[in-house]
Amino acid sequence: MNTQSTTLLIIGGGPGGYVAAIRAAQLGIATTLVETANLGGTCLNIGCIPSKALIHAADEFAKARSYAGNSALGIAVPSATIDIATTVHWKDGIVGKLTGGVGALLKKHKVTVVKGWATIVDGKTVDVNTAGETLRMSCTHLLLATGSLPVELPFMPFGGIVINSTEALSPALLPKKLVVVGAGYIGLELGMAYRKLGVAVSVVESVERVLPAYDAELTRPVGASLERLGIELHLGCTVLGLNAAGTGVRIKSSAGTETELAADQVLVAVGRKPRTEGFGLESLRLDMQGRSVKTDDQCRTSMRDVWAIGDLTGEPMLAHRAMAQGEMVAEIISGKRRHFQPSAMPAVCFTDPEVVVVGLSPTEAQQAGLDCIHASFPFAANGRSMTLESTDGFVRVVARRDNHLILGWQAVGCGVSELSTAFGHSIAMGATLNDVAATIHAHPTLGEAVQEAALRALGHALHV
Ligand code: FAD
Ligand code: NAD
Repeated sequence: MNTQSTTLLIIGGGPGGYVAAIRAAQLGIATTLVETANLGGTCLNIGCIPSKALIHAADEFAKARSYAGNSALGIAVPSATIDIATTVHWKDGIVGKLTGGVGALLKKHKVTVVKGWATIVDGKTVDVNTAGETLRMSCTHLLLATGSLPVELPFMPFGGIVINSTEALSPALLPKKLVVVGAGYIGLELGMAYRKLGVAVSVVESVERVLPAYDAELTRPVGASLERLGIELHLGCTVLGLNAAGTGVRIKSSAGTETELAADQVLVAVGRKPRTEGFGLESLRLDMQGRSVKTDDQCRTSMRDVWAIGDLTGEPMLAHRAMAQGEMVAEIISGKRRHFQPSAMPAVCFTDPEVVVVGLSPTEAQQAGLDCIHASFPFAANGRSMTLESTDGFVRVVARRDNHLILGWQAVGCGVSELSTAFGHSIAMGATLNDVAATIHAHPTLGEAVQEAALRALGHALHV
């Protein structure tokens, strides 16, 4: 058997694995990365990037269609059409550029990339099935970055009209009627995009409100937008399965009423689970936390020199968390002292309007026993929002009452994903309300709502 040895062996070339590989190579660690599919993992190939591309295309199409009616801006277009095959081709082009870029970066840093399926033999040995041959790799450190897979409903498995996000991101044809199961990140991001592409969309959610992971006030403008778009919501409902003809979904309300929703496609988006099977992980007998690999605050597993990062280690399953963990593990292996204790983990939901949370919400601060103040500034009072025809939403800040240290930011509105950077900076740098309030913010920008929220928390907002 062909055998090779390396210092760091990484299984999985997603944002966690490839960032770890680049940083390790920068630090002079001999690194091999094993990836069975395209580099870039879920994020670049079937997740963050393609979903945001489709959302953008859907937004542009919806805008063009709105100009076919009476536009307040005086713009008129006779009609708008979309060729979804061209849209998918454009999206695939972006994916290709980015995944090719990851390959080039790994090459530049002299990371050895092996394309194949890795199977763990023990904590220092991995077999890679590459082009029909088995390559045995031995390593000093083993980093597991195998990501996650969509959760399947046992009574309505994927196949036929039941699809997951991967298929929803590459439609050959658009369905006429789409039923989405799950009003979380994927269900709403893609459900809204499909609706804007002209599809009749119904969403079934087991909890009584959409985006239940976020606080209710923050998601209210998203609920209003779903209604405006004509998306049918079935909240607090249980999915029973497909009907006998396979042409619809049977659901049951919390009151016990059964209904059937016609569908020519059903997108199941009820969460993702860590990918722990099919590669010999069980042979390591690592400590687990539910379905995830248990790690400490350095991403060490229960076995010495075996590390785990990203979605494999559970929630929050976000690309930037995986990247930050990958970078940190490489630095620890190189001898640096690091711990994964981020001051805040931003989360953005790319719905229309977008939702951002960084740090603590008022309720979370209260639950943590902190005495806090909070204040919001509405985009309805922001000039830039008016010029963008989008005044829904607000920015909210949470700060300690005693010293005004900022502990959290939340925002909902058009384009607020870009505010997550400023939110993260202010928390990471230990800013107070006064630091933000006293900073000159460019006019007219959405960022002025950030300054005004801080001013309002201090009791002297200027524009509300
Ligand atoms: P992954 O990206 O899943 O990469 C794991 C890699 O390991 C895969 O390429 C897989 O092929 C490989 N692999 C697994 N087992 C083996 C093996 N035995 N041998 C060889 N290779 C193997 N997150 C955000 O932060 N922002 C977003 O906007 C966002 N949007 C998303 C949209 C969708 C539709 C989805 C599905 C996810 C989205 N996410 C988003 C989540 C994000 O994609 C993940 O959190 C991120 O990709 C996790 O990175 P990872 O490196 O842990 O795993
Ligand atoms: P999710 O956890 O965001 O949402 C799942 C939703 O399905 C929840 O609201 C849940 O209450 C509901 N649900 C669960 N079982 C149900 C059932 N049987 N019937 C009806 N509703 C049910 O999961 P997701 O949308 O599948 O996304 C998976 C993960 O991918 C996310 O948690 C996130 O980590 C990541 N992601 C992130 C982004 C982003 O950062 N913008 C975008 C997409 C995905």
